[in-house]
Amino acid sequence: MQQIIIIGSGPAGFTAAIYAARAGLKPLLFASAIGIGGELMNTTEVENFPGFPEGIQGPELMQRMQEQAEKFGTEVVYDDIVDLDFSGEVKRVTAGDGTVHEALSVIYATGSAYRKIGLADEERLSGHGVSWCATCDGFFFRDKTIAVVGGGDSAMEEATFLTRFAKKVYVIHRRDELKASKIMQQRAFDNEKIEFVWNSEVTAIHGDGEVTGVALRSTTDGSTSELPLEGLFIAIGNDPRTHLVHGKLDLTSEGTIALEGRSARTSVPGVFAAGDVTDPHYRQAITAAGSGTVAALDAEDYLAALEQQQAAALVTA
Ligand code: NAP
Repeated sequence: MQQIIIIGSGPAGFTAAIYAARAGLKPLLFASAIGIGGELMNTTEVENFPGFPEGIQGPELMQRMQEQAEKFGTEVVYDDIVDLDFSGEVKRVTAGDGTVHEALSVIYATGSAYRKIGLADEERLSGHGVSWCATCDGFFFRDKTIAVVGGGDSAMEEATFLTRFAKKVYVIHRRDELKASKIMQQRAFDNEKIEFVWNSEVTAIHGDGEVTGVALRSTTDGSTSELPLEGLFIAIGNDPRTHLVHGKLDLTSEGTIALEGRSARTSVPGVFAAGDVTDPHYRQAITAAGSGTVAALDAEDYLAALEQQQAAALVTA
């Protein structure tokens, strides 16, 4: 039986692991069967994580967090969690290989998943010109004409990064102003390979086998147009990964895991949550790391209280 199981290997999961391991709780951390490190593994330069004035590559930052967690005694398991049982004091989590692990506390830090537009063509052409990850797939679009959908920091970052490869990058946005931070906007505006397509939404993605273009509809007057393309990157935000806890933990109206005040306590005693799965708003590496700290400290308090209760029960027995 573990003291603590951490599910998730982004900044929240690894920071929780560093704190829990330093508290002597020997955490067992479930990364993922395919992709350890969370969203930062798909990022290039991280310029806003304190302590790195020159910036640091996302994958290197995650590797360092993992090293730090392991150095203090975290055991990392490269498997997905496929089922959870939070019904008793002992929590049970089932890994992809079928093994059931038991723990007195769980920190749930599964992050968020790329949002989809919701078009049938999106799935059909995924991996054939449609992508959600510029750093993973940008290389395949050398000298091509492509587009990025979205108006936030992710879209600006992806578009700017993709100009390293593509000859032209359109940014298709549904409004006439961006949500992205001023610095990211300016970088995109200053890039002569980037052209903005304002007030437009993608209604279809064309291509038999590979992307050949998209159909657009104006969000102002409903008029339609066609844009020939060889690739489409979708960067319209993320949704919290909560599918395993539906019906087991309370969620907020925004779909994130509900927490008690500023704590990491969920609706089930002994289960804590941290990172993007709890955060509809800030969603930064540093805020996720901070919430991982809160979760580890709350779990520590919970375990100490549980131990005291058990000791008191023995005395009275
Ligand atoms: P976001 O800030 O939520 O922006 C999503 C964008 O996609 C918005 O412009 C939104 O349009 C648009 N959108 C949403 N749903 C859409 C749909 N169905 N069809 C078309 N467009 C749609 O998401 P994000 O850009 O992924 O950023 C998430 C968080 O990560 C933010 O806090 C951001 O600051 C952070 N981040 C930071 C960095 C960095 O600092 N280097 C890099 C990436 C992300 P509207 O504007 O009309 O709502």
